[in-house]
Amino acid sequence: MRTRPSKYNISGKLWGTDHHFLMNVLSGSADILTREEHEALESDPEAARDLMEEKGYWVDPEAEKKTFRAQYLEFSAAREREELQIFYTPTYACNFACGYCFQSDYAHPSERHDAVVTAFFDYIDKAFQGRRKYITLFGGEPLMPGEAHRAHIAAVVDGCRERGLELAVVTNGYHLLDAIDLLARARIKEIQVTLDGLAEAHDSRRPLKGGGSSFDTIVMGVDAVLARDLPLNLRMVVDRENIDELGKLAHFAVERGWTSHPRFKTQLGRNYNLHNCQASQGHLYDRLELAKAIAELAKRVPEVAKFHRASFHGARYLFDNGELPDPTFDACPACKSEWAFDASGRIFPCTATVGVFGEELGRFHPTVELNEERIAQWQDRSILTLPQCKDCEVNLVCGGGCEAIGRQQHGAEWSPDCRPVADILGVGLAQYFVDDL
Ligand code: SF4
Ligand code: SF4
Repeated sequence: MRTRPSKYNISGKLWGTDHHFLMNVLSGSADILTREEHEALESDPEAARDLMEEKGYWVDPEAEKKTFRAQYLEFSAAREREELQIFYTPTYACNFACGYCFQSDYAHPSERHDAVVTAFFDYIDKAFQGRRKYITLFGGEPLMPGEAHRAHIAAVVDGCRERGLELAVVTNGYHLLDAIDLLARARIKEIQVTLDGLAEAHDSRRPLKGGGSSFDTIVMGVDAVLARDLPLNLRMVVDRENIDELGKLAHFAVERGWTSHPRFKTQLGRNYNLHNCQASQGHLYDRLELAKAIAELAKRVPEVAKFHRASFHGARYLFDNGELPDPTFDACPACKSEWAFDASGRIFPCTATVGVFGEELGRFHPTVELNEERIAQWQDRSILTLPQCKDCEVNLVCGGGCEAIGRQQHGAEWSPDCRPVADILGVGLAQYFVDDL
């Protein structure tokens, strides 16, 4: 058997240190090397051949192809068993005027909901029969007030309850307090709320339409959700303008007892340019800059690590579990484990495309119509079909990224959304492992 370096080896430097790393998600190996070890390996790779073979960094290419195929089959089978996330958008209207909203010019479906909600559940009952699934209310703002709108939401909540489906909600949080009883008629999987910092910063980035503060009202909503022991996912959208708010919000969340609640979790969203949003782009982070900014802040502000533990492309997973996550052959769940429906009766691939003219894949109301060819194209997208991804050394970690971002960046469909995987791993490994070195 003649071995050679695996095409899936990922190597890089631990950010801010002299150490290097070598990783291979197909073989499941990960090693941190001192500068001396790294230099020795570079200058005489043959000397470490036995060890490198044992760890799967050097492989017989034919055997590696077989492993790749076997793991791809496992990935595909696991995806078939995965729970479906089905988004339902009752409205694209919103009571906020966030500067970075990508939906602000979407058309608003009418409020006559009865037939639409019935058709929605009829469709998912048949199309996704036998699949584990849950419904996520999305918007716009799905918890807008008003009798007609709340009757619309009640129909969705009751449809979930009747079927035993869990319900998630993505909301700006302003009307959480007055909607919580209604939502809790179903089993709540998660309520996602966004705060972009403490009051002043949050209110300037996420003002009510026509002006006015939303911070205190949202905080009361978060308190109420946690008081009922419902799962709360607090999302913060981060860019250069509000990065310091992350430390302040983390401190606030710790003080308020949120971070010690077992059902509280957080998510950091990178503010990025999608569709028509972002008049000024200078304050946006790229992925690596954001990773470094979070890691730097976590060093300075201890509460940040209690508030949010970034995944850094599997570095956190490795730290927590002592092993690498499985390979990702496809990072885009659209039309595989994710679908999005709106109240105009249209079907879309996912949240980034829902409501975008030209992205619809068909209708569930008033008649069922599907563009099967288009759906198949979404379902085929993976590192095996994107030409740029096939021979990319980080493909099994990156998974080809997000199609919506890829097409935005490249101006063409079925485009890769490249991520600086090795550099971000370098930041993450330094963050999680550097004390242990
Ligand atoms: S296109 Fe992007 S946002 Fe949509 S499902 Fe794929 S990864 Fe997610
Ligand atoms: S999207 Fe770019 S970085 Fe990701 S696997 Fe494809 S080519 Fe590699």
